Amino acid sequence: MSNELCPVCGFPIEGFSDVPLAESFFICSCCGFEFGFDDGVNGDNYESYRDRWIANGCQWWNKREAPPKGWNPVSQLRNIGVG
Ligand SMILES: [Zn+2]
Repeated sequence: MSNELCPVCGFPIEGFSDVPLAESFFICSCCGFEFGFDDGVNGDNYESYRDRWIANGCQWWNKREAPPKGWNPVSQLRNIGVG
């Protein structure tokens, strides 16, 4: 397991050692992007999804899990070179 950043929103996510993120069907708790779905049949890509997420006010996606203390979507986006 390795930690990597969500390519959409920059939120740290748990990587999968044996499955590429793009095929993992992992859903980012922060932006809600589902890898292998939203970038597949849904016709989105990281950029288009991210633009919409930002336009909607960078809302935390996972209703069952609170965002981490001090969560800051703006500095998080900077970590992946956005903003
Ligand atoms: Zn994300």
